[in-house]
Amino acid sequence: MKAIQEKTVIITGASSGIGEATARELARGGANVIIGARRLGKLEALASSLQAEGASVAVHQLDVTELSQMQAVVKFAIDRYGRVDAIVNNAGIMPLSPLASLKIEEWDRMIDVNIRGVLHGIAAGLPVMKEQGFGQFVNVASIGAYEVSPTAAVYCATKYAVRAITDGLRQEVAGQGIRVTLVSPGVTESELAETITDHEARELMQEYRRIALPASAIARAITYAIEQPAGVDVNELVIRPTV
Ligand code: NDP
Repeated sequence: MKAIQEKTVIITGASSGIGEATARELARGGANVIIGARRLGKLEALASSLQAEGASVAVHQLDVTELSQMQAVVKFAIDRYGRVDAIVNNAGIMPLSPLASLKIEEWDRMIDVNIRGVLHGIAAGLPVMKEQGFGQFVNVASIGAYEVSPTAAVYCATKYAVRAITDGLRQEVAGQGIRVTLVSPGVTESELAETITDHEARELMQEYRRIALPASAIARAITYAIEQPAGVDVNELVIRPTV
């Protein structure tokens, strides 16, 4: 039996890009996958296509900025499958802009989705995992969690925060059977750049996108971390395009 089979995995931000590719990879590997995001139609289409292949996929509409919605997804997983093996805190947005543009509403949204969203995933999952005595958080950061690039001060700040939270969580749950993984992609094909409203930042992203990784490359990295035996905790994976 492959290690991924029979695992129950919740993925946030699964309606496109990396989350969608991860849902495909895990579901095809035999996991019970619960896919969450705001766009229900996209989730349902993904679930239908995977179910047609015989995969186990359930849809749960979700806004990660609302703790109660994240808690509802975890409850759904427990009610349906009796356990949660992993939560992939992947949902994120990236409306890049220079600080001087004062796009304060966009800063706030990045903080809400990219930081609070991950914290809500932890808040919803940690009590359950502690009770089970096992579980795993896979938090998706970015290479922007290691260095700041032009127009990305706030986005990178949110990803530095995800890295710090992930490291702190790993220290705190040591000895409790809970694994904690940080996955940091370089530029990857997805819908992420569509959240950029700033002209200069959009142009810059077009340049980077010429070397973008397929989302399936990140999905395989996430799957690698989840499919390891219980005694193996993959701490950190950084995936960049070959240049
Ligand atoms: P996409 O834009 O394709 O996917 C983002 C996902 O997040 C969508 O499914 C979106 O779904 C979801 N999402 C956004 N806001 C919310 C919310 N409030 N509640 C629930 N879901 C939400 O981009 P990626 O696949 O690239 O992004 C996935 C992660 O990877 C992000 O954390 C991103 O920062 C990170 N990343 C991406 C890189 C890249 O180059 N693509 C590089 C490094 C990191 P919906 O709108 O339906 O809610």
